[in-house]
Amino acid sequence: MNSSKYQVIVVGAGISGLRCATLLQKAGLSVKVLEANHQVGGRLRNHKFNNGDKVDIGGQWVGPGQNRMYALIDELKAKTYPLYNRGKNILRHKGRLKTYVGVIPRLPVWHLIQVGWLLWRFDSLVKTIDCAAPYENKHAEKWDGMTLQSWINKNSVSETARKVFALGVSAVFTVEAKEISLLHALFYAKSGLSLDNLISVDGGAQQDRVHEGTAGLCETMALGLGDALELNAVVERVSYQSNEVEVKIRNQEEILKSDRIIFAIAPNQLQRLQFDPPMPLAKDQMWQHMPAGSCIKCVAQYEVPFWRELGLSGQSVCLDEDILINVSFDNSQKGKTSGLLMGFIEGKKAREWSVKSDADRKQAVLASFAAFFGPQALNAIDYVDQDWSKESYIRGCYAANFTPGAWTEFGVNLRTPIGPIHFAGTETANQWYGYMEGGLEAAERAVNEVIKSLGFY
Ligand SMILES: Cc1cc2nc3c(=O)[nH]c(=O)nc-3n(C[C@H](O)[C@H](O)[C@H](O)COP(=O)(O)OP(=O)(O)OC[C@H]3O[C@@H](n4cnc5c(N)ncnc54)[C@H](O)[C@@H]3O)c2cc1C
Repeated sequence: MNSSKYQVIVVGAGISGLRCATLLQKAGLSVKVLEANHQVGGRLRNHKFNNGDKVDIGGQWVGPGQNRMYALIDELKAKTYPLYNRGKNILRHKGRLKTYVGVIPRLPVWHLIQVGWLLWRFDSLVKTIDCAAPYENKHAEKWDGMTLQSWINKNSVSETARKVFALGVSAVFTVEAKEISLLHALFYAKSGLSLDNLISVDGGAQQDRVHEGTAGLCETMALGLGDALELNAVVERVSYQSNEVEVKIRNQEEILKSDRIIFAIAPNQLQRLQFDPPMPLAKDQMWQHMPAGSCIKCVAQYEVPFWRELGLSGQSVCLDEDILINVSFDNSQKGKTSGLLMGFIEGKKAREWSVKSDADRKQAVLASFAAFFGPQALNAIDYVDQDWSKESYIRGCYAANFTPGAWTEFGVNLRTPIGPIHFAGTETANQWYGYMEGGLEAAERAVNEVIKSLGFY
């Protein structure tokens, strides 16, 4: 049987794996990147509408504090532009529309006070978290044993405030608040600086877009790797000893060998691999307690961004159950005449709507946009939705979440290498876990580990 040998094999050509490979090549190491899909980018992807305009149907925003992302964008000679954030936002509550500006919807004073209190209280707990070891917090056991929903219930007497907060939770984590622990929510928020930062546009995580889309960054990195990148290469089995790795790719006879391997794939994908010897129990169990969130990203294209002429920003928040889309944004691209409205279907709703027909979903999404912006929203000239749970090698997004109890039981294993096997990917990041920036941070850490372990320092 043939075999090729490299110093490092990287599995996964999402932003994290591609960054690993670029850094390893720059350090002069021989690298092979194996990507299961027929394209690079992982959770970053462009869709081309019938008129040729493109839109991000995966991760798209960058914001202050994501220094590695802005540096990469510069390095690859790409450019950013701000998300359209002028005009009024819309709140739909009990069938009625209200407009507001800023992050928090205009609610009766009592509910507003309650929302403000929840945010203040949550962010005061966030400040106590050390992202490198959230399980070492003196309240870790208590907070990890409690769901985020039970904390919300305990800290608010207003049902409307609870709904607003829960909506923010599903928009940030793509799960229901009952599915994650308070400790995970606090870690995630601290990792992205604060919850307020994660839900904000100007000065926050939704501030900027990348011209030609974030997937373009991955395509440029892939070009730089040349022959080192292999697409349609599904890694199935990994055998390892202290200084040697053997990799079996689906439907290939050849076994690839390397001194080290870096996995830059989501935990639910790691769990599907066959390791020989098997991964230590704690590592494997940790992955089993890190399910991906659920999200369908929906984008409708219009001749023009008609809502702007009505003085509206395209941003909406909906607290009503009869409407499918809870949160929307103006996703129009700079320099294009067409207008794009984008909405997310998240958490439980994403699971329910994942199994419905494309036509039913499109109709419900357009009806949601019409409920916010008027009947013109029904006249989309094109439409796309991307259900990330249907992607064989990703199976959910935006990222994995630790289930209750998992951080304190298994979290210490998150970033530890196992023999010659190292772990990158956004789900191993310290800062900006779940974000593109986190993927870059994790890549730097994993590459440093590998270079050091090979004795190149
Ligand atoms: C709808 C959506 C919206 C988002 N919004 C934002 C945002 O606005 N800002 C932001 O910063 N982040 C956002 N994110 C999150 C961001 O996209 C991710 O954090 C980031 O892309 C993860 O990169 P990664 O390289 O760690 O993993 P991935 O992108 O998942 O890459 C892993 C790669 O590994 C491959 N793979 C898996 N298994 C195997 C195998 N067995 N063999 C070989 N290859 C394998 C996969 O095909 C994939 O290409 C969003 C994500 C989604 C989906």
